Amino acid sequence: MTDSDAHPGGDEPSWVQATPARPSGDTAEKRVCMSCREPFLSEGWHNRLCPKCRKRSEPDGW
Ligand SMILES: [Zn+2]
Repeated sequence: MTDSDAHPGGDEPSWVQATPARPSGDTAEKRVCMSCREPFLSEGWHNRLCPKCRKRSEPDGW
C-alpha cells in the first residue's frame, strides 16, 4: 500500500496526512444548532441539533 494510492491529487504536503482519515468537519467541536441557532458542542458532522432540540424532536411521553 502506497500513499499515492490514497491521494491521487498529490498536491498536499505529506505532513498533512497526520490527521485521521475522516471527512473534514467530522470532529467534536462547537457548532450552531440547525434549529434554534444556539452554539453547542457537537459530537460530529452528523450532530447538528443542540441537546435541547434533539430532546424536543423526540416524542415525549409516548
Ligand atoms: Zn437547538
